[in-house]
Amino acid sequence: MSTAFISHPDTLLHVMDGSHPESPARITAIKNALIQKGIYQKLDIYEAPQATDRELQRVHTAEYIQRIRALSPKAGLVQLDPDTAMGPMSLTATLHASGAVVFATDLVMRNMANNAFCCIRPPGHHAGRANSAGFCIFNHIAVGVAHAFEKYGIKRAAIIDFDVHHGDGTEDIFNNDPRVMLCSTFQHPFYPHRGADTRSDRMLNIPLPAKSGGKEFQRVFELEFLPALNQFKPEIIYISAGFDAHADDPLADMRLLDADYAWMTQFIKKVANQHAQGRIISSLEGGYHLGALAEAACSHIESLL
Ligand SMILES: [Zn+2]
Repeated sequence: MSTAFISHPDTLLHVMDGSHPESPARITAIKNALIQKGIYQKLDIYEAPQATDRELQRVHTAEYIQRIRALSPKAGLVQLDPDTAMGPMSLTATLHASGAVVFATDLVMRNMANNAFCCIRPPGHHAGRANSAGFCIFNHIAVGVAHAFEKYGIKRAAIIDFDVHHGDGTEDIFNNDPRVMLCSTFQHPFYPHRGADTRSDRMLNIPLPAKSGGKEFQRVFELEFLPALNQFKPEIIYISAGFDAHADDPLADMRLLDADYAWMTQFIKKVANQHAQGRIISSLEGGYHLGALAEAACSHIESLL
């Protein structure tokens, strides 16, 4: 069995401005590091299709999708919110990004891959039902989870979000859906300034103080996430794989190292093997130090293999 790596050249064409940390170089850095370490050669490589409006509408409102299509510029940049802008190729890029997670779901559900990593941008976990936010336009992980429900009759999906920022868009979309458990670690207080006081049995929001490292994350995974996941028994596990809790990340102030990403991935694999026939679909979210992002993503993907 195998690990699928799903990306698309158009993810490089979404450019907000020359100095924006959410840059095309992030994708290139990950891919180059995978090649250099000989990991890329062991992966099954696929190009992501674009998500259809029907797939997006399972989690986003038709009005919102229409508004994004209408705002897509022929030239220049359109500002969607204080942190997120669209250029001429941004719509195409984000459609491929959502499509990657849909396609990954198809591969894993049809036993064509054990698990999958979607190397895509823009990220997705801050996008809510009807809003962009924090560099995100559509919520790719949510689109993938909804696809698993609709197309494959999956009854319970877990989302592990170890990005340094809370996956508030994902919470917005699945807060009232008993089929979804969200396990989210995040620096607090910090952007998006949500999640710390909305914890529930299925929305396991675990705020962590700045400078938390591997020890703190391991404690959360073992003492908070594991018992909840063992009780919930997910049939498939999605990962919002942000690498911005890395010690070197310039936007945040956490202390994770490459080995911690390997540990978290192995932990998730154990849960997936126990409850979900090993099914894991991981999708890139944040991570803004190119070197740290590439190394941490390699640790994560090598552990998936
Ligand atoms: Zn982030």
